[in-house]
Amino acid sequence: MIDKSELEKEQKVVQSEQVFVVKLPSKGKHGYTDTIKCRPLKVRDVKALVADPLEDEVEYVSRLIDAIQGTIVEGKINLRELSMPDFKKVLLAHRVNSIGAVFELGFYCSCKDELQTVKYDLMQLDEKEISDSYVEPVQLNSFSVRFPRVYGYIPEGKKSFSDVTDFDVLASAVVGKDVEELTLKEMKEVQAFVEKWDGSYGVQEDVEIPCKYCGKKVRVGIPFFLFIQRW
Ligand SMILES: [Zn+2]
Repeated sequence: MIDKSELEKEQKVVQSEQVFVVKLPSKGKHGYTDTIKCRPLKVRDVKALVADPLEDEVEYVSRLIDAIQGTIVEGKINLRELSMPDFKKVLLAHRVNSIGAVFELGFYCSCKDELQTVKYDLMQLDEKEISDSYVEPVQLNSFSVRFPRVYGYIPEGKKSFSDVTDFDVLASAVVGKDVEELTLKEMKEVQAFVEKWDGSYGVQEDVEIPCKYCGKKVRVGIPFFLFIQRW
């Protein structure tokens, strides 16, 4: 006969193995948790990403967010409310834990019209935590400003990222006032705040790979949004 308590113990072990912890580089400074727990992606989670053609980028990323949202087991959080660096960290953690750390990067060098590919270990990517001196929100006149959120990058009604404007993104950084009602002087202050901190923390977003023909180092962007789609 199977000892029931043994079986329960075993199940607990399995459960804990299937959950991974993501430490967000914003360290809780955006007003949400600094840690979330996820389970690895399953086939049913990614079906919505694979089955439909990539009609437009914005909608694709929106579906990607929904797929990832369903894997959060602890840490009550809406992924659309994350900053983009935090969301990219979640995507990286999912890639490493759900599929694996090796990812094929593709790039072109100016010396030759040929797609070069290289297997890259994503664990090599650097990560910077947000500065201890970062504070949000910052009060400006009748509104306050904070770091832009994911939803600002995927506005409804826009198809591709090239259609997304600074105003869309900054709308998620302004609290307490409609971005369209801001004076240009106020808008400039918002932009200055965002520019000051943009890129100051998070996972490294590009790497240098030597061309196999001329040896020159080519800067290659890390395609975070394709981490789950490209196995
Ligand atoms: Zn080259």
